[in-house]
Amino acid sequence: MITKPKGTYDILGKDAVINGYYNDICESYAKLYNFNYVRTPIFESSDLYHRSVGETSDIVTKETYDFKDRSERNMTLRPEGTAGVVRCLIENKLYGNRNDAIKLYYNGTMYRYERPQAGRNREFTQFGIEMFNSNDPLSDAEVISIGYNILQELGIESLVVNINSLGDKESRQNYTKALVDYLTPRINELCEDCQKRLKTNPLRILDCKYDQNNEILKNVPKMTDYLNEESQKRFKEVLNNLDVLEVDYVVNPNIVRGLDYYDHTVFEFILEDKGITLGAGGRYNSLVKELGGPEIPAVGFAFGNERIINELKEHSVFSELPEDYQGNVDVYIMSVSDEEKLNALKISQNLRLNGISCEINSNNLSMKSQFKIADKLNAKQLIILNSEDLQKGLINIKDNATKEEQKIDEDEVVEYLVGIL
Ligand code: ATP
Ligand code: MG
Repeated sequence: MITKPKGTYDILGKDAVINGYYNDICESYAKLYNFNYVRTPIFESSDLYHRSVGETSDIVTKETYDFKDRSERNMTLRPEGTAGVVRCLIENKLYGNRNDAIKLYYNGTMYRYERPQAGRNREFTQFGIEMFNSNDPLSDAEVISIGYNILQELGIESLVVNINSLGDKESRQNYTKALVDYLTPRINELCEDCQKRLKTNPLRILDCKYDQNNEILKNVPKMTDYLNEESQKRFKEVLNNLDVLEVDYVVNPNIVRGLDYYDHTVFEFILEDKGITLGAGGRYNSLVKELGGPEIPAVGFAFGNERIINELKEHSVFSELPEDYQGNVDVYIMSVSDEEKLNALKISQNLRLNGISCEINSNNLSMKSQFKIADKLNAKQLIILNSEDLQKGLINIKDNATKEEQKIDEDEVVEYLVGIL
């Protein structure tokens, strides 16, 4: 038997229903905020990720799925969505002749070669928002609030936005120096990865997953103390805007994000009671230029869809659904003889084209089996065909809850069902 690759999964049954519900809500919020759908390739030139996500990031150093195509080009399965969207923005010159914000969203699979564990897969999906061409602190707040409001709408409780500012380049350089000065004499007390990071990417040490209880890391200098006046002012405005939007947040100086391209605002959507990060993002004003475009500011985030969907399983809306969920219909049409089956086919088409969902016997099932399946599908009404009624142009309809039966003229079936469903 061939099995699925390690770190991948199938979505079916109840999970598929929750997945659809989740995607619909993300999409409807994207529309409410005027973000437009964009789809970019699942593989891109490896260079794109080396130049955007950064040579020293976890993603590029150990997580990418790289391959050579048949013409020896270096390709990478996308590990995240932002780089592809920025490439697309530049390649299609979406910024040409416009001074308003460019608002895009995506939803698709990402690939990272990680050690699979709860909430961490090798193939996973992200819903992401990217807002270009605005450096106004309003846009940071708008982007954070769409994520926050989606999670509220989904009924995810105990969610707090953890936010920090990395400041501008100058502030970040000053802070990085202070951090290195503090950590260098204590290098032996850092984990192996962080000892390397001290030379390559010191800020990332604050995001160490391994060493979260290390006192050395708990007492590092605070980034917010090193922001210059300009960066401080900007950060305050973002927080003010979040207050106006009533977003529940906490300033967390340890949020630095794993990717290299962030400046100013960085944030994570965190489930406080479980310490799980459901999504993350920030401002990345230099990335478009870095990848060969003009200087265009940007801010965005990505949700880890599976982590959110996993939380929704406990949601009351879904508690009734069986794990092996196989569907729901308004009407089940029961038939046994060839004449009845032909009529069932005709009626099913009529119902479906009028917006009434239904199921028919497509497997020569006995009446007893059909009753069972109708119940499993939660059919509210049963159409029970029989040749005597059919000859008189009548259709026998039974309410599956009250068990009351009615004979309805065949031309009035749709109208009747629309009226009672
Ligand atoms: P972490 O620090 O947990 O590794 P990250 O910094 O790599 O996260 P991002 O690249 O910012 O995460 O991705 C945004 C979100 O995507 C994360 O908050 C998480 O919910 C989700 N995510 C990241 N990697 C995975 C994965 N391997 N499997 C499932 N979801 C993931
Ligand atoms: Mg990671």
